[in-house]
Amino acid sequence: MKILVINAGSSSLKYQVFDMDTGSVIAKGLCDRIGVDGVVTHKRPGKENYKAEAPLHSHDDAIALVLTLLTDPELGVIADISEIGAVGHRFAHGGTLTESTVLGQKEKDYLASIVPLNPLHGPPALKGLEACEKLLPDVRHVGVFDTTFYSRMPASSYVYAIPYEYYEKYGVRRYGFHGTSHRYVSAKAAEYLKKDLKDLKMITCHLGNGSSISAVKNGVCVDTSMGFTPQEGLPMGTRSGSIDPTVVTYLMEKLSLSPAQMNDVLNRKSGLLGVSGVSPDCREVMIAESEGNERAHLAMEILYHSIVKIIGAYAAEMDGLDVLVFTAGIGENDAIVRSEICRRLGFLGVEIDDARNRATKRGDFVDMTAPGARVATLSLPTDEEYMIALDTYRLARA
Ligand code: ADP
Repeated sequence: MKILVINAGSSSLKYQVFDMDTGSVIAKGLCDRIGVDGVVTHKRPGKENYKAEAPLHSHDDAIALVLTLLTDPELGVIADISEIGAVGHRFAHGGTLTESTVLGQKEKDYLASIVPLNPLHGPPALKGLEACEKLLPDVRHVGVFDTTFYSRMPASSYVYAIPYEYYEKYGVRRYGFHGTSHRYVSAKAAEYLKKDLKDLKMITCHLGNGSSISAVKNGVCVDTSMGFTPQEGLPMGTRSGSIDPTVVTYLMEKLSLSPAQMNDVLNRKSGLLGVSGVSPDCREVMIAESEGNERAHLAMEILYHSIVKIIGAYAAEMDGLDVLVFTAGIGENDAIVRSEICRRLGFLGVEIDDARNRATKRGDFVDMTAPGARVATLSLPTDEEYMIALDTYRLARA
């Protein structure tokens, strides 16, 4: 069966087609600048990439173009759209949904009702779904949610210590994000170690432009660093991560900032960019650091400090640690970041082999555990799309 995976953003739409018989990607691409002008990049393994300008007024246009490309005699990978057996849709927020699900009217109404919790990703994801349903009405459309990995966290991990009625009335709680990535890498790590996830205490670090850390104890995610929104937890490229909440009200009063302006400061002007003044990109901040830029050095130190603090807290919560996993842009690529973090976690039994750590490049699966170390330390490539395809395939056949 062929599965189409769709990840729709406000002005972009990413797609991948999986052949589930072989577990391989047969085509993938990106429709970008939707609603502006439109450009599409279409890739097939072993073949030349296709890139073209194309008017994309809406998500409907983007999906129509994707299906045209997939069935094109020259650029396509299938003869007819009827070969697509089901479509998997990535949703950042599934609210209180506890698992991936076939999307009927009830589920769509629920997802529309939680748009206020997820104003950036919710509307385009629903638009992508509607556009797909129009052109592929006869197959199952499956929603895969970043939040479901966190649905079994204990209440003590997800209820904030504010008046309880805000949780009850308005759904203000920790939801967690990047769950599909954490779910994928935790399963892969257990598979590699030939252990049952149920027998492991694992911490997974998704370190990219957006970053989060999850604690997975005996197969259940018991805590995660992102919260009500992806803003909480670690400092990121441009997000502040956790700060004293009173800083927000203090600055809003002092600078007469509106909620939207304050959000902009916390989401787009903070993190590595805000502290270093150099860039949100970890590589560029590290180059500046190596050239003696003190604020770039401070930005990196804040990042290491925050990561180590969370890992330490999660090891305490789980009463131990067996496996530490790194993934995403920084986690998969940056040997210096990994080594700085691991160096500070010796007390937990984390010890890595420096040569193996340095030999990694993106896409590698690396076991950098030093001989005799108590904790297995791995770096492995995340694959959220494959995880979405797997869930979709399972539900399409059910
Ligand atoms: P997103 O969260 O947008 O998917 P990524 O997971 O690709 O982003 O992560 C982007 C981050 O990864 C950037 O901070 C970038 O500097 C870092 N990164 C990407 N490639 C490398 C590399 N080869 N070495 C070090 N850092 C890298």
